[in-house]
Amino acid sequence: MSNAFGVSEFDSIPDARPDDDGLIELPLVPLRGIVIFPHVITPITTRNPQALAAIQFGLTGHRTVAGFAMRDPSHAVQRVEDLYEFGTELALSQVARGGEDQRSVLALGKRRLQLVSIKQTEPILIARARPIPERRTRSEKLLSATQRVKQLLQHVADLSPTIPEEVLDHILNARDAGLVADLTASALLLSLEERQRLLGTESVEARMNDLIAALAQEIQVLELRDEINVQVQQEMDRSQREMYLREQMRVIQNELGEGDIFQQEINEVREQIIAANLPGEIHEKALKELSRLSIIPPMAPEVGIIRTYIDWLVGLPWTQRTDDNLDVRHAQEVLDAEHYGLPKVKDRILEYIAVRKLAASKMKSPILCFVGPPGVGKTSLSKSIARALGREFVRVSLGGVRDEAEIRGHRRTYIGAMPGRIIQTMRRAGTSNPVFVLDEIDKLGMDFRGDPAAALLEVLDPEQNHAFSDHYLEVPYDLSQVLFITTGNDLDPIPAALIDRLEIIEFTGYTEEEKVAISRRFLIPNQIEAHGLNGAGVRFEPSALHTIIREYTYEGGVRNLDREIANVCRKIARLVAEEKQYGRRIGSRKLLDFLGPPLYTNRRAHKQDTVGLATGLVWTYDGGDIALIEVSVLPGKGSMLMTGQLGDVMQESAQAALSYMRSRAVDFDVPSDDFENYDVHIHLPEGAVPKEGPSAGITLATAIISAFTERKVRSTFAMTGEITLRGKVLAVGGVKEKVLAARRAGIRQVILPSENKKDLVDIPQEALDDLNFHFVDGMQQVIDHVLLPAPPERQRDIQRREEEHDEKDDQESKPESKKSSKKKTES
Ligand code: ADP
Repeated sequence: MSNAFGVSEFDSIPDARPDDDGLIELPLVPLRGIVIFPHVITPITTRNPQALAAIQFGLTGHRTVAGFAMRDPSHAVQRVEDLYEFGTELALSQVARGGEDQRSVLALGKRRLQLVSIKQTEPILIARARPIPERRTRSEKLLSATQRVKQLLQHVADLSPTIPEEVLDHILNARDAGLVADLTASALLLSLEERQRLLGTESVEARMNDLIAALAQEIQVLELRDEINVQVQQEMDRSQREMYLREQMRVIQNELGEGDIFQQEINEVREQIIAANLPGEIHEKALKELSRLSIIPPMAPEVGIIRTYIDWLVGLPWTQRTDDNLDVRHAQEVLDAEHYGLPKVKDRILEYIAVRKLAASKMKSPILCFVGPPGVGKTSLSKSIARALGREFVRVSLGGVRDEAEIRGHRRTYIGAMPGRIIQTMRRAGTSNPVFVLDEIDKLGMDFRGDPAAALLEVLDPEQNHAFSDHYLEVPYDLSQVLFITTGNDLDPIPAALIDRLEIIEFTGYTEEEKVAISRRFLIPNQIEAHGLNGAGVRFEPSALHTIIREYTYEGGVRNLDREIANVCRKIARLVAEEKQYGRRIGSRKLLDFLGPPLYTNRRAHKQDTVGLATGLVWTYDGGDIALIEVSVLPGKGSMLMTGQLGDVMQESAQAALSYMRSRAVDFDVPSDDFENYDVHIHLPEGAVPKEGPSAGITLATAIISAFTERKVRSTFAMTGEITLRGKVLAVGGVKEKVLAARRAGIRQVILPSENKKDLVDIPQEALDDLNFHFVDGMQQVIDHVLLPAPPERQRDIQRREEEHDEKDDQESKPESKKSSKKKTES
């Protein structure tokens, strides 16, 4: 051991000799906070006079001293209780003299001592103590405990640099368990109490176990510290890296003469905010966001979010507005110059302008709702209104909007949040008082994500819309200066609460004459202009227009008509461009070249009076149409079969019609067992999808009665009307569209419920002139008009008689084999 530390001086100092009681008496060196283990050399530096005297005595006398730790180092030692019970016999070696009152020596621990008493002699204290001999045991258990201690110590040394390498080597190479235990105890950072306990434990094995526990705990602490260190290190690495990169960026920017881009950007945004001249509250809000922007790191994801938000605040028209042109005559000129007809609508707009002029801004803006088939000019008239008033025009479609957030926006906390369509469209408008068209209000959806109709109510409510709240925008936006116009094809799907807000203005389909006029005055000049054919002298003959309208289009409005005219113009433009010959006058015969074969030649009414085939008039989403209803009566079991475009309401109408027929079977001369022995098959062939409704009632009844009575239906008639079980005929909607559809289809006789007489005022005179109207209250009147007299004998009866005859002839008759279905209708 002395070799290891190279201090041979210690070896020459002998152990004290015990007296008869086995005790030794030694000068006492009170130790301050240290424990010196046997075999271990420890430096002692002290100013304690008691200790200085004892050390002096030991050094000069070349003898050992006793080292015991003080329990309270602030007091001089007087009694045995002032010291810990266990200490060490020490051999001392002089190192240096640090002046009069301080001294440093090296002390080598020799034997364990147990203190018995102290005695005061001048100037030193004498300790009386019992030496504890080191028992050398060698058990398997101790061996493996020693091995374990060495392993653990190695681990501790790996984790912590506090154990000097030479000490570690010394311990790992030591063979004696007691030596290993004492060196290890000394090398570990243990508390004074723990050290005292290890010193006082006689059994090596017990000390080893204590050390194993202490080492294991030390390892845990060190590992934890390591982990924390790694985290701290990583964190530091990251922020250092960032700092480094940012610094580099700054250098690069400076190098490029760009200065601090981010700061520059913030300055720009500030200028934008100031230039935007926002109302006070909005201005404040924008600046507040800007100050948030300036304190977050330029690369943080919030930067984009805040920038976009400020952009929205700055980009919205808060105060910008156009001055209304309230000159009624000017407005009338604009409306007439751009749209043919539509007197009711135009009048309403002119009234609005007049009142506006008189009552200034006291008047709340009406919310108009233009309802009618596609292509009747709802949108384009709205544009003209904007032009007449000198306002901006914007439109947004509500078709398929199901989520409230589409109207009102998402809160900014959502990723990719945006304002709703209303605010987006206002930004596009650029002024706070545009004409704002909300298209397809009847196609507004509704589902679990909230009710867009409710949000729309707020938009359209003059009481609320001066402070419309968009989730994204957060600040209220004033919509009260906007002139809203909503459009739709059909009123029914619009929620009642919304309808209450709207001033409904109906647009109906055009007659052929109106379409020709619209083509001549608007569509053709526009398309000629659009195709660069101004100087080409192209002329559409009336016959061509009529043919396009009748055979190439089938609609209430003029959208397809416009498209076909465009098609013709495009073909001509090509001929002109290729410098080919072309005829300037476009007659109906040329259409085949330009447009190909006509699409709708077969869509006219059938020409033959037929059993079981009646012509109804229906309302469809693109206007009116005729609909043929076909009924066959086939051998069967009295059931009703329906095919084609029949919705629930129409099926109910069919039931009602059949019930009516059965209740009057006697009057119609139909044997009542017919209803048990035959099936009724109702079919609504091809064509536009009619809107679900009861208005096909009398048509269904007519076809059914005809099929049973085999009285033919006059093909010159078309009809519409709801039927009750008792055969009363009730009023229906969409009369104008239906009447025009009848006329388009070349039908002259129209049957309408009497209650609908009033609706004829909307129908242009030329259409009225072409048609004969028959108003009815009950089904019998319909029958009288449209059914021809009964045949002398019904086909069905003839057939039945023949079958009975066959059965008599043929003994092997099979009653159910009435397979000979016969179709009584032809289209
Ligand atoms: P809607 O909005 O009713 O579906 P649009 O406004 O889109 O119909 O009209 C379709 C086309 O028909 C437009 O080019 C429009 O200018 C034209 N049009 C419709 N009605 C008229 C009319 N009365 N006078 C002039 N052009 C019309």
